[in-house]
Amino acid sequence: MRLSMMLTSLLILLPAQAMAWGDGGHSIVAEVAQHRLTPHSFDVVQKLLKSEFSAAPMGPVSLASISSWADDYRDKHKETANWHFVDIPINVEGKKSEDVTYDEGRDCKPSDDPSGTCLVKAVEEQLQILSKPVDFNSASAVTEHTKALKFVVHLYGDMAQPLHCAERDDDGGGNGFHVFYSGPKQNSWEVRTNLHKVWDSLILGDVQWNWNAYVQDLEQTWLKGKDESTFLAGSVVDWVNACHQQAVRAYALVPADLTLTQNQLKDEKAIADEQLAKAGVRLADALNKAFSSYP
Ligand SMILES: [Zn+2]
Repeated sequence: MRLSMMLTSLLILLPAQAMAWGDGGHSIVAEVAQHRLTPHSFDVVQKLLKSEFSAAPMGPVSLASISSWADDYRDKHKETANWHFVDIPINVEGKKSEDVTYDEGRDCKPSDDPSGTCLVKAVEEQLQILSKPVDFNSASAVTEHTKALKFVVHLYGDMAQPLHCAERDDDGGGNGFHVFYSGPKQNSWEVRTNLHKVWDSLILGDVQWNWNAYVQDLEQTWLKGKDESTFLAGSVVDWVNACHQQAVRAYALVPADLTLTQNQLKDEKAIADEQLAKAGVRLADALNKAFSSYP
């Protein structure tokens, strides 16, 4: 999340999606996943993440602590800029928005694009790297795998943010779709915002300061008693298509006067809870599978 006025105004200049779930959203997905790691996967995660410290930290390193690394990395590595989203259009001539699904040729840039491919391919590629058992004696292999881990943790979060799976008439995933919101926790200069930012941060509120409590709440309410194996059905493409469906719904929800109400944001938060929880469960499964062949 970026809260500075400077960046808010910069967004107007940016052609593509520039934001992501706020740090809080990514931390939530990562923490839900960490709760579901097998002891073996947890050990592998610790070995990889601690490899980056010159003096090993005393306690465990959490997945949440590295979950937003990819957003910072992108600032100096533009070749990964497109990895954070997949622009499945809302408007396609001759089709209902609900019927539009991921089309690689249309929605994913070719691999020689200077800004990278797209979320779908990036997840697949980084998971492929991570799934090859690493030789812990090879510093370069450990570095490559640690980087892949940090990408996978982040991109599973992006994959659950509806405005990272859609765009409408070149609006950069809702960054160019200005809406109004007036309510608690809103700075006066932010009354005019955009749909992407509504999903990045306004729905979740001040969660960056208390994401752990948010996770506890998810565990005790939304996730409690659910058969989590049902969330694992399907593929990355199926999940971005479902994510796109949520975006279709989110665009349609914006009223004619473009003013979102508190009640609407409350309803959207229920959807966000589901998206975050499912992403965490799926991330854990992906990591447990990737690390199952590690020594
Ligand atoms: Zn991102």
